[in-house]
Amino acid sequence: MVQWHKALKGGLHVDCHHHYFGCGAWGNYPHGRFTSTIGPSSRHSHTAPTWLVLHIIMSDTPTNLLAYSDTELVAFMATLGEPAFRARQIARQIYVNLVNDINQMTDLPRVLRERLAAQASIGSLQLQRIISDEAGMTHKALFTLPSGEHIESVLMLYPDRATVCVSTQAGCAMGCTFCATGRLGLLRNLDSHHIVEQVLWARRLLQALRQTHGQSTAAHTPTLEDSTWWGDDGGHPEALPQHLGNVVFMGMGEPFANYDRWWQAVERLHDPQGMNIGARGLTVSTVGLVPGIKRLAEAPLPVNLAISLHAPNDEIRSAMMPVNKRWNVAELLATTRAYIAKTGRRVSFEYVLLQGQNDTPELAHELGLQLRGMLCHVNLIPWNPVPGLPLGRSERQRVTSFQRILQEHGVACTVRVERGVSIAAACGQLAGSPVSGP
Ligand code: SF4
Repeated sequence: MVQWHKALKGGLHVDCHHHYFGCGAWGNYPHGRFTSTIGPSSRHSHTAPTWLVLHIIMSDTPTNLLAYSDTELVAFMATLGEPAFRARQIARQIYVNLVNDINQMTDLPRVLRERLAAQASIGSLQLQRIISDEAGMTHKALFTLPSGEHIESVLMLYPDRATVCVSTQAGCAMGCTFCATGRLGLLRNLDSHHIVEQVLWARRLLQALRQTHGQSTAAHTPTLEDSTWWGDDGGHPEALPQHLGNVVFMGMGEPFANYDRWWQAVERLHDPQGMNIGARGLTVSTVGLVPGIKRLAEAPLPVNLAISLHAPNDEIRSAMMPVNKRWNVAELLATTRAYIAKTGRRVSFEYVLLQGQNDTPELAHELGLQLRGMLCHVNLIPWNPVPGLPLGRSERQRVTSFQRILQEHGVACTVRVERGVSIAAACGQLAGSPVSGP
């Protein structure tokens, strides 16, 4: 059953206060306070940097609090004449308490809440809709960026965990032949706060779902064997995971093509004072951008790495993935081995199976020989249909045969249990279309 949720329902939407903040709109805030912070002789105890003051004065859009680092939030509050601890209160409300309405920050003085609500917003994505499937266990959101492009995110609920798949770009330049996103081309890179905001959306949605189901205080963590897990109506589960602790950067876009902003998002998601998502709960998926893999090998957080391989040789891989002409299979696998040697971490290889193209027993043997002895794991993904693409999903028997051959080579291998196929939320199906969906 597919359910439609209206955006703006049940507090799940991203609040956006359209307050235009020209000079005539300063209202309660005396100009003297701001101009006094600009000059180098200012002795104001909460002096904001000049760039921030000028930005606020000249901006005609609400200040997006998610766009600020901790330091910048302190500086922003200084422009309001507020001490640093107010910034910490606000950050806690946003990232820990998941508040999405400034007026709900009840630990702030009412006057400050009103001033803040008049000129700032929590986030900038406009939630257009949520489509849900799999008995309410998969939820795909469509957002519009302020610049007009669309992106999608998918929340997947399991008995013992919750995972959100987020986008790092609108569209994608990589042009993989089997992927809906790739057909769009690159529309734009996302900023780090756009990425963080998708995770906030997922956490708020899980929180709201738990409250809807009366589970918000339940200590019970269901298992697959738990008979209470699936509701009698064949639809909603009776219990939901308590916590969203997994983020996979596998939505629209190639994360390593937007590395710096993606990494900023990783650091903010990991922040123990904020969203506190463990590095091992973060998984980045790359099409095989060798420079990005090398950078990640040097990164301070042990984020999981998944590589879209999809073929064991250049002839087939180049036909499926243009990026292979830049970094071929040999170079990609050599870089992966160096990454494993440097980090000691296991790598996942994603392998989309297309009937008759890359799913033959011969190719399974070839792949097994390539990966033999490597600290890795292969995820086989039967291809998910994309309208207009003349490709076929591998039959079940071909998938299991492929898996068995890899295992005979000593390569750990699983077949991914797909989520969201019927709502075009599965791997390779995200197209950010405002008209997609049932
Ligand atoms: S599979 Fe990933 S890298 Fe390839 S086109 Fe799609 S989004 Fe881009």
